[in-house]
Amino acid sequence: MTQKFDVVVIGAGPGGYVAAIKAAQLGLKTACIEKYQDKQGKIALGGTCLNVGCIPSKALLDSSWKYHEAQEGFAVHGIEAKGVTIDVPAMIGRKANIVKNLTGGVSTLFKANGVTLLEGHGKLLAGKQVEVTALDGSTQIVEAANVILASGSKPVDIPPAPVDQDVIVDSTGALEFQSVPKKLGVIGAGVIGLELGSVWSRLGAEVTVIEALDKFLPAADEQIAKEAMKTLTKQGLKIRLGARVTGSEVKKKQVTVTFTDADGEQQMTFDKLIVAVGRRPVTTDLLASDSGVDLDERGFIYVDDQCATSVPGVYAIGDVVRGAMLAHKASEEGVMVAERIAGHKAQMNYDLIPSVIYTHPEIAWVGKTEQQLKGEGVEVNVGTFPFAASGRAMAANDTGGLVKVIADAKTDRVLGVHVIGPSAAELVQQGAIGMEFGTSAEDLGMMVFSHPTLSEALHEAALAVNGGAIHIANRKKR
Ligand code: FAD
Ligand code: AMP
Repeated sequence: MTQKFDVVVIGAGPGGYVAAIKAAQLGLKTACIEKYQDKQGKIALGGTCLNVGCIPSKALLDSSWKYHEAQEGFAVHGIEAKGVTIDVPAMIGRKANIVKNLTGGVSTLFKANGVTLLEGHGKLLAGKQVEVTALDGSTQIVEAANVILASGSKPVDIPPAPVDQDVIVDSTGALEFQSVPKKLGVIGAGVIGLELGSVWSRLGAEVTVIEALDKFLPAADEQIAKEAMKTLTKQGLKIRLGARVTGSEVKKKQVTVTFTDADGEQQMTFDKLIVAVGRRPVTTDLLASDSGVDLDERGFIYVDDQCATSVPGVYAIGDVVRGAMLAHKASEEGVMVAERIAGHKAQMNYDLIPSVIYTHPEIAWVGKTEQQLKGEGVEVNVGTFPFAASGRAMAANDTGGLVKVIADAKTDRVLGVHVIGPSAAELVQQGAIGMEFGTSAEDLGMMVFSHPTLSEALHEAALAVNGGAIHIANRKKR
């Protein structure tokens, strides 16, 4: 007999699994379909984020940072660390254990919340029927009052550098190196390229990042992007802007990359090459030709602001739809959709999705950049505070970077918080909380911040907006 559900979710990434749990919590009979197999051939939940994205990359970023600190950051504290070595397979093994714990945790959460897991490939048919093809090839049809498509994304391939997951790898391959490449090339200076480039650079690889655009981190505030370029270059990353890769040749376990920049055609040879040129939505064999669901011109599933597709009762969330390709955006869309299916009037604030790049120092922001606001003709007041003036940052020997708060010159409402510095991701979240409640710079300035904390830099930057910073000379006078 055909199984019937209130909600069927296709994909168990941070969009899909969160949507499924939320729907079940709201009393809806929910199933989630997932096909991703781990190295043992077992279905693993959690999607890109838990298996080959956010979590494994952060595990390696943290391990490699500790190694780097032991090598270069201890002496200043009077700690002598001689003969520090790196066991790459052990580091990769630790990462694998974290992934296993977390993906297993999602299975436990499904059981605890009563979500039915259907293992296999899901395909939306007409009339909100979903075909599930199990790993053994057998199929079943389930019926759903509502369907949530959460099939995520995968790396973009470029013909000049075809991935072989040996010498030329994508982000997934770059999380699995068993030794440190001597020379590493990275195509693309986006979030993923910079994070993975940083991991292997800290472990001793000579890293060159080749980026087609002339501008570094175009989505970030220009002041922050400039600071990031300076810092990452100082750390040893060679970032070649305005350089477009046009070809590559693999020979004897090395790859020679051809690229064109202002000086004409160039070549560089690497031991490994990471292709990190973006991600694209996964819709292969997801929609039957008569499903009625439309794609947009870029191949994403077309949805409105509430993630409804062109078919009533069918929703799509996360990387497979427009907007930032971020796990937290996917999850919150999942919550919004589950709540709307349950009859609540949930909305999501797309203006306040924080962005983070987990380099060291971290780079994070929420809201608009100074350039965006000026472009929109909004008059702004800007306050900045450098970590070099923070007692807590000095104590930690981590004084690079700054906090920048941008407020509307007329209303003082905070419109953007931009940070490069220690724990930038956590600090920006404080700005996001304030902005969600419509904070003014003055409100933030009037709050009591614990001393000594890195958060005080946010406090001081907010005070600086109106010329009232205490621990730095104010550029603007009250
Ligand atoms: P996904 O996580 O891609 O999950 C989709 C799931 O659907 C997959 O498990 C897939 O197997 C399954 N699926 C697809 N089609 C079908 C089908 N037909 N039937 C059954 N199952 C199907 N984001 C952050 O916010 N912070 C970070 O620090 C961060 N770091 C990243 C680092 C790397 C190296 C990468 C690659 C990504 C990173 N991201 C990060 C992005 C983040 O991983 C994605 O934005 C997020 O995973 C999107 O969630 P999703 O649920 O939409 O899709
Ligand atoms: P993101 O989309 O943030 O992951 O960043 C990917 C980056 O890769 C973008 O900044 C692109 O400009 C860059 N990119 C794409 N194709 C090429 C190419 N052929 N050569 C160099 N950089 C590229």
